Amino acid sequence: MKFGIEQEIDWDVLSDEDFRQNVRAFFEENYPPNLRHVQRRLQWSENGSWYQRLASKGWIAPNWPAEYGGIGISPKKQLIYLDEQERIGMGRFADHGIHMVGPVLIKYGTPEQQERYLPGILSCEHRWCQGYSEPNAGSDLASLRTSASIEGDDYVINGHKIWTSMAHDCTHIYVLARTDANVKKQMGISFLLVDLATPGITIRPIKNLDGGEEFCEVFFDNVKTHKSNLVGGLNNGWTVAKSLLGFERIFIGSPKLPEYALQMLRHIAQERRMTADPIFQDKYAQLQLDVEHLSVIYQKYAEIATSGGNLKSDVSMLKIWATETYQKIADLLFETAGPYAAIRQTSEFGKDSRSVLSAYYNARLPTIYSGTNEIQRDIIAKQVLELPA
Ligand SMILES: Cc1cc2nc3c(=O)[nH]c(=O)nc-3n(C[C@H](O)[C@H](O)[C@H](O)COP(=O)(O)OP(=O)(O)OC[C@H]3O[C@@H](n4cnc5c(N)ncnc54)[C@H](O)[C@@H]3O)c2cc1C
Repeated sequence: MKFGIEQEIDWDVLSDEDFRQNVRAFFEENYPPNLRHVQRRLQWSENGSWYQRLASKGWIAPNWPAEYGGIGISPKKQLIYLDEQERIGMGRFADHGIHMVGPVLIKYGTPEQQERYLPGILSCEHRWCQGYSEPNAGSDLASLRTSASIEGDDYVINGHKIWTSMAHDCTHIYVLARTDANVKKQMGISFLLVDLATPGITIRPIKNLDGGEEFCEVFFDNVKTHKSNLVGGLNNGWTVAKSLLGFERIFIGSPKLPEYALQMLRHIAQERRMTADPIFQDKYAQLQLDVEHLSVIYQKYAEIATSGGNLKSDVSMLKIWATETYQKIADLLFETAGPYAAIRQTSEFGKDSRSVLSAYYNARLPTIYSGTNEIQRDIIAKQVLELPA
C-alpha cells in the first residue's frame, strides 16, 4: 500500500538553507497569525483546519520515512522543519499519532496495522492520545495496574489513566496495560490501540491552574479491543514505549521556547521601563547566557541524532537545562510584569497583548512530563556518573 501524498518536488535535493526558506514561506503565508505563540494548548476546533491544510500538502509527518507518508527529508531537514514550526509559534494539536503511534507502527506494527491506522493519522481524521500514567504510576510507570485480559478475540481492559493530554479532543488512545502480573513488572506490560468510541470508556477533563482543560482522566470498564490491536507482541510494551524516548528528549530540549520567552521578557521590561535597572540587567544577562549555552548543547545532541547516532543517557542534561532555563525566564517575567502578572487574561504591553500568568503556569509543565527532572537527575547520577544507588 502507498501512504501519503505525492510531493511536488524532491525536497531533499534542496540545500538546507533553501529548504528552510521554503518551509518558512509556506508557514508565514498559511499559518493563521492569531494562532502564533499562543500560551496554552489549542483545541482541534481552533487549529484543526490548519493541520488539515498541512495534511493535504503531505507535510503532516515530516519525521516519517517517505514510503510511509513522510516528506522524505534527511534528519537535519526534519530539525529545520521543527525549528521553523517553533519560530512561528505553531500551536500543537493532539499529535501523538504523528510523534508516537506512527513511528511505533512503522517499527513494530504488522502490515495490516500500518494499513489500518497510518492513513487516518496522515489525514488527521484520527487523533491519538497517550494512556500511560495512572494515579499511582507516573514516575514509576512500570507499577501501572490497568489490566488487559484475553477473552475470545479481544483484550478486555479495566483501569484508570490520568493526565491524558487532550483525550477529549482525540479519537483513539494507545494504552500500556498489564497483561501478566506474575513476572518482573516491566516484563508484563503490553501496548494496545483502542478506539475512544468503544463502549465502557469514560473521559473526564481536568481543569488546570490556568482554567483550561488540557488533561483528562480516562476510565476503562470492560473495554474490548480486538487482539489485532496489540503492537510489538504480548508483554513487550515496555520495550515498545521506551523506543521513542530519544526523539522526545531532543524535542523538549529545543532552545526555541526559552528564546521566545526571553524576547517576551525583554519586550515587557522595555514597556515597563525596567531595562536600566542594574538588578534586572544582571538577572537578564545571566538568563541570556543560559539560553546561549542551551543552544550550544542542543546543537551537539541534534548533530548526534541527525547523523544517525544513538543518544545516550547524558541527553537527560538537555531536558533539565532547557526546561529549567525556561522556568527561570518565566519567573523573572512574572517579577517584571508587576501587577499584570496576577491577571489571567491578556494585558497590553505596547503593541503586544500577553498573559504573563499563563506563561508562568506553562513553564511549570515541561519539568514534569516526559520524565520529571528529578528522574532525569537520577538517570545522570546512576548511568552517567555511576554514583552508588
Ligand atoms: C503537561 C503534562 C502533560 C502530560 N501528558 C500526559 C499524557 O498525555 N499521557 C500520560 O500518560 N501522562 C501524561 N502526563 C503525566 C506525566 O507523565 C506524569 O505527571 C509524570 O510522569 C510524573 O508522574 P506523577 O505526576 O505521578 O508524579 P510522581 O511520580 O508521583 O512524582 C511526584 C514527585 O516525586 C518525584 N519523584 C518521584 N519518584 C522519584 C525518584 N525515584 N527520585 C526522585 N524524585 C522522585 C517526582 O520528580 C515529582 O517531583 C503529563 C504531565 C504533564 C505535566
